[in-house]
Amino acid sequence: MKRLLYKLLRHSGLVFIFREIIQRNKITLLLYHDLSREAAEKTFPYLKKHYNIIPLADYIKAHQDPNKHSLPKKALVITFDDGHIRNYQLLPVAQRLQLPITIFLCAGIINTNRHYWFTFKHPNLSKAALKRASNKQRLKMLREAGFTPEREFQTPQAMNRQQILEAKDHFDLQAHTMTHPCLPRCTDAEAKEEIIESKKVLEKDYGLRINALAYPNGDYSDRDISLAKEAGYACAITVDFGYNTLQTDPYRLKRLSVNDTADLDELAVKASGVWQFFKTRNGKKQGYGWTNRVER
Ligand SMILES: [Zn+2]
Repeated sequence: MKRLLYKLLRHSGLVFIFREIIQRNKITLLLYHDLSREAAEKTFPYLKKHYNIIPLADYIKAHQDPNKHSLPKKALVITFDDGHIRNYQLLPVAQRLQLPITIFLCAGIINTNRHYWFTFKHPNLSKAALKRASNKQRLKMLREAGFTPEREFQTPQAMNRQQILEAKDHFDLQAHTMTHPCLPRCTDAEAKEEIIESKKVLEKDYGLRINALAYPNGDYSDRDISLAKEAGYACAITVDFGYNTLQTDPYRLKRLSVNDTADLDELAVKASGVWQFFKTRNGKKQGYGWTNRVER
């Protein structure tokens, strides 16, 4: 049923209008997580055909010095959160299509068999309930159910060192904290460690140049913005619905979630923002993260 709706919306003219009018002079950031190689092969050519895919770094440069750097019309940045192991398989697709892609890594999970806490099935608490708890309480509830951030499982969920070193010349690898907590639920010391340490680890242990932070689950507070500035990030990225300009607060960059889709109609509708626009109009938040702010 939804697929039919995507098809109708895609061909309604709305996607065209959004793309050619609203997105024309904006910078759109797309959010993926764990897209398969097959889905990327099928759908990335659509993005390449209809948008100008730019590296996140180009947007940051233009934001910092608009007189020296200009951006193309319909600029689009492809981002992936978490550093899932399958992201590595996208390397040949990205290279063949010459697509710049930014991947945000959890510095405490890559190169280990530790798991993302949100993939652990708690026997009686929902993810939303866990995210609502204080960071300490969440960790306690997870521990009681058998999950700790340090626990090494049988198989990895995140990319390993070799994959990261191999990918780093093509992918832009940036920071997504150490362990993917809900930052606003952390104490000052916890948030500081997560935001500052992840940058340090990625730079020191992997030789990366880290200048962008993606807030886990898109959750952030003013305190977390201050910490990102203090740590030396040039920008930080949310999952708030909307498009960006050279005036957008660089520590509250907006993104459109495209739901790792392999469906071209769904991608067209979500990459244009048509879908999120109507959901927001209906008073609903973007379908990712539980504290997505409405557009400011
Ligand atoms: Zn994440």
